[in-house]
Amino acid sequence: MAPLYIVMLGPPGAGKGTQAKKLAQTLDLVHVSTGDLFREHLKNETELGQLAQSYMNKGELVPDDVTIKMVEERLSRTDCEKGAVLDGFPRTPAQAEALEALLEKFDAGVKVVPYIKVPDEVLVERLSGRWMSTSGRVYHAQHNPPKVKWIDDLDGSPLYQREDDKPETVRHRIEVYTEQTAPLIDHYRQKGLLVEVDGTQAIEAVTEDLMKAVEEA
Ligand code: ADP
Ligand code: ADP
Repeated sequence: MAPLYIVMLGPPGAGKGTQAKKLAQTLDLVHVSTGDLFREHLKNETELGQLAQSYMNKGELVPDDVTIKMVEERLSRTDCEKGAVLDGFPRTPAQAEALEALLEKFDAGVKVVPYIKVPDEVLVERLSGRWMSTSGRVYHAQHNPPKVKWIDDLDGSPLYQREDDKPETVRHRIEVYTEQTAPLIDHYRQKGLLVEVDGTQAIEAVTEDLMKAVEEA
């Protein structure tokens, strides 16, 4: 069977990570989050991690060339043979082109692009309450709390708040999204791949809509 690639689109805090994890699990695909990959590099103190950190802390995008190289390497690994749910990539038109070129090499293409729509005023609240586990699981202080405050349900490790989830940085990330990533909405709409999903619903309702979008694609 041809590999299946899904691109999750939406502003920071829309719920891409939360939903990408569920979709990947249900569809038996790999969840590829560029944010998680950069954070992993940061934790391992690699050169790429150090470079990425200087951009991430300011809420800017990491340059296309290094980001694209990292994703090409990740998608070329054997665990991605069946495809992947891409979360946080592509974020610029150049990244979208690079992805298309890469998938062509695999004789595949993007199957569907769910666009999780959430108004800006909700995003700041979502991100200020976001609690992360070091393995990338996502909680929310009110909307999706762990069983024990600040503790990961699955492995008991402590949760943390991301440096870049401070309201000032979030506002800048939303601007960067509007300028550099939002043009991809039209790009994928023109290709007939875009499916809009109301991201203000409860997490489970969003998942249902997304599963429908994938099944109908
Ligand atoms: P993104 O990857 O798009 O930045 P996340 O999946 O990390 O978004 O979600 C951002 C925050 O909002 C997290 O704290 C998450 O628990 C919470 N969240 C995600 N989806 C919903 C939802 N449908 N309703 C309320 N909160 C949500
Ligand atoms: P969010 O969950 O809020 O959407 P991510 O975890 O996806 O945020 O990304 C965090 C940061 O990592 C971004 O603000 C940016 O600095 C960097 N980053 C992630 N993906 C990309 C990408 N595709 N291109 C450039 N920078 C990226």
